[in-house]
Amino acid sequence: MEVRTRFAPSPTGYMHLGGMRTALYTYLFTRKNHGKFILRIEDTDQARYVEGATDVIYRTLKDIGLVWDEGPDVGGDYGPYIQSERKGMYLPYAQQLVRDGKAYYCFCTKEELDKRRAEAEAKGETFKYDKHCLNMPREEVERRLAAGEPYVIRQNVPTQGEASFDDIIFGHIAVDCSELDDMILIKADGMPTYNFANVIDDHTMGITHVMRGSEYLSSTPKYNLLYDAFGWEKPVYIHLTNIMRDAQHKLSKRTGDAYYEDYIAKGYLKDAILNYIALLGWNPGDDREFFTLDELIEAFSLEGLSKSPAIFDVNKLTWMNAEYIRRLEPNEFNRYAQPWYEKAGIDAMNKETLCRILQPRVEFFAQLPEMVDFLVKLDEEYDVAMFTNKKSKTNPEVSLGVLNMAIDALNALETWEEAAIHDTLIGLAEKNGLKNGTMLWPVRIALAGKQVTPGGAIEIAYLLGKDESLRRLELGRKKVLVA
Ligand code: GLU
Repeated sequence: MEVRTRFAPSPTGYMHLGGMRTALYTYLFTRKNHGKFILRIEDTDQARYVEGATDVIYRTLKDIGLVWDEGPDVGGDYGPYIQSERKGMYLPYAQQLVRDGKAYYCFCTKEELDKRRAEAEAKGETFKYDKHCLNMPREEVERRLAAGEPYVIRQNVPTQGEASFDDIIFGHIAVDCSELDDMILIKADGMPTYNFANVIDDHTMGITHVMRGSEYLSSTPKYNLLYDAFGWEKPVYIHLTNIMRDAQHKLSKRTGDAYYEDYIAKGYLKDAILNYIALLGWNPGDDREFFTLDELIEAFSLEGLSKSPAIFDVNKLTWMNAEYIRRLEPNEFNRYAQPWYEKAGIDAMNKETLCRILQPRVEFFAQLPEMVDFLVKLDEEYDVAMFTNKKSKTNPEVSLGVLNMAIDALNALETWEEAAIHDTLIGLAEKNGLKNGTMLWPVRIALAGKQVTPGGAIEIAYLLGKDESLRRLELGRKKVLVA
C-alpha cells in the first residue's frame, strides 16, 4: 500500500509554528515511507479566509524545503486541491447520508437556536442541537426545500453507544454518543463544514495517514461515524500535541511569538527554525540535536513522537540559531546580514571585518543594529570611569599617556589598514614596555564609548576610518584630562 498523506492548512494568516511542525512531521513520515505528500487548502470557512494567506502557505513550505507531490499549483490525479473548488462534490455525499438516515435537513433559524441555547444555559445545561428537525415528514422537507428556505444538513449521531477511534500516539479514544452534537455537514451557504469536508476529501484523495493537531482528537470519533456510515476504510490517525509557551498557555497570536514569520523577521535562519521545531515533540532516540532536512527524514519515526505537550523555549531556539549562524561561510553570513547592515547604517563599512567581529556574537540578526550602534554614533556622554580597568592595568593617568601616543602615531599613518593599525598600536606597547591590553583598552573605550563591543580596538578603528577614529580618540583624551 502506498502511503498518502496531506497537509491541510486553512488560509487564515501567517504560518503558525504548530502548523509548520505538523507539515514537517507529515513530510518526514511520507518521505521516509516513499509515499506521496499532498497539499490541500481548506478554505470552506469563508469568514476566516485571509486574502493572500494561500500564497503565504506556498511560500513558507517552499522556503523550508517541504516539496508537495500533489497540490493546487502542481496538480495531481485527485484534484482540485482547494476545497472551495470542490464545493459541488460534497452535497451528493450528504444527500446519500440523508437517504440512509445518517443525516437530515435542518431548517432551524439562528434566532430559534439562540433562544433554545439561552434556555438551556439558564438551566445550567450545555446546549447541543436537540434533533428538532430529525423527524420532519418527507413532504414538509421537500416543500420547504422547493420553497427555497435556507437549510443545513446535520449528521444524525446515534443517541446511544460509543464512537471511537485509535490513534497512533493517544491510543484508543472513545466517547459516549450521548455527548456528541449533531454537527453540521453542509452549511446554509452550500459549503461543507471542515468536519465534513475533511472526511470526504481524505477518502476521495486516498489519504492513508492523517496527521494533525490534537485539537481534532475530540471530533475524530464523529468523523469515524461518517466513515462507518459510508462503509469506507478509515485512515491511520496521528494527532500531535500542542506547542505551548508554558505549562498553561499555547503559543498564541497575541504574544507575537507563534508564527514562523515572527522569527524570520527577527533574523532567525529558516534551517535553524526547522531544526528546532523538529525536536519539539519528537525525540530522535539519541542526543543528537543538529539535523538537516535530509537527516531528519533519515532519523524520523513515529515512535519518537511525544504524547505530552512540547514547551517552546525561545532561548533554546536562539542558542541553536547562533550555532547555525556561526557555521555560515563568511559570504553567506554577509548575505543574511546585508539588510541589517543597511538598517544599522553600516553598509559602507568593510564586510570582511564586520563578519569577523559579528559572526561569533550575533545570535539572531535583529540584534545586529544595537550591537553596532556605537560604530554609527558615539555616545559622547559615556562614563570616563571606564578608562580605569583593573585587568588591563589602566587608570586615568595611564590612559592619558596611551591616548596621546596613539593619537600621534595613528595620525602619522598613511594607509588605514588593519595590519598597519595593528603594527602601530602593538609597536607602541612594545616600545613602552606596556602590556597589549594596557595599550588597547583606553583606545577601544575612546573609540566605542562602551566596555563591551564586538571586535577590538584595531578592528573598530579600521571600520571607523582615520578621521572619525582620531576625532574620537581626541575626545577621549579631553575627557580623561578634565576628569
Ligand atoms: N484545516 C485544518 C486546520 O488548518 C486542518 C485539520 C486537518 O489536518 O485535518 O487546522
